Amino acid sequence: MTIRDGFLGTIGGTPLIRLPWASRITGREILGKAEFLNPGGSVKDRAALAIITDALERGALAPGGTIVEGTAGNTGIGLTLVGNAIGCKTVIVMPETQSQEKKDALRLCGADLRLVAARPYKDPGNYVRYSETLAKELGGFWANQFDNTANRDGHRATTGREIIEQCEGRLDAFTCAVGTGGTLAGVALALKAHDPAIKVVLADPFGSALYSWITSGELKAEGGSVTEGIGQGRVTANLRDAPLDEAVRIGDAEALEAIFAMVREDGLMLGGSSGVNVAAAMKVALTLPKGSRVVTILCDGAQRYQSKLFNPDFLRSKALPVPDWLA
Ligand code: PMP
Repeated sequence: MTIRDGFLGTIGGTPLIRLPWASRITGREILGKAEFLNPGGSVKDRAALAIITDALERGALAPGGTIVEGTAGNTGIGLTLVGNAIGCKTVIVMPETQSQEKKDALRLCGADLRLVAARPYKDPGNYVRYSETLAKELGGFWANQFDNTANRDGHRATTGREIIEQCEGRLDAFTCAVGTGGTLAGVALALKAHDPAIKVVLADPFGSALYSWITSGELKAEGGSVTEGIGQGRVTANLRDAPLDEAVRIGDAEALEAIFAMVREDGLMLGGSSGVNVAAAMKVALTLPKGSRVVTILCDGAQRYQSKLFNPDFLRSKALPVPDWLA
């Protein structure tokens, strides 16, 4: 319990929470790294800090400069707040399909927000591709979270190391979903260096091509998901050499069951990707002996998705079950 220095000094060092509902149901110990408690509200504060620290060290960015990035929202929030703390402007390109709450948060932070239509990666109008073009036009620094491995290295040095310390070295498996792959790859590298027997499992929503990549070597997507910030159609530089053992696929109904149960039974308000992660941790745990310990990531909070995942009309429109207490 020490005094932390401003926004930058408050990133990381998050609690590792024993999740009562998930642990009770499985008879295993399910632990969640509380990344929703970062000062910008998500796991992406860590990536933002790692990428900007690296850019400042390399001279790719200086105070007074402009940071440009394509993001589902959370990285944009992290980058904008880091930018504010070091005196940089931030231009954020985001697909218009993302939640209103994340758009509002970006405007509140002071980002110059540019919404674009959702397009596939191969299309130059895709939010990531367009952010690279815009960075060149503006003479700004393109953060490039997907292929800039400062992202993964930051997670290896902080998230991964913290998990090992908090578990006093004892854990049996780790699982989480992939957006850029920075979290999964960074934590996986740290855990495998500590103990190669720790199982690392990629959790994949429908609509993402990574489950089929791991299980059959082929990048193939199937279906879709209401979760945001996760799912990937290609092997990013951050993910490329990650030491992964397996993959599990998690549907929206399972992910939502987990986040709804955790609100009502545990008092934890989490977003959709945390639901995928906790559902995956439970699935992995059930393949391990009773009493095993599985760690996952609680990426961000429920409020960022209130108008969608906690809105009965939205849930019905997607043919997803509406819990009694929301109906
Ligand atoms: N969950 C949420 C809510 C996110 O915004 C992101 C990042 N896009 C992730 C999970 C995935 O994290 P990573 O980019 O490290 O794979």
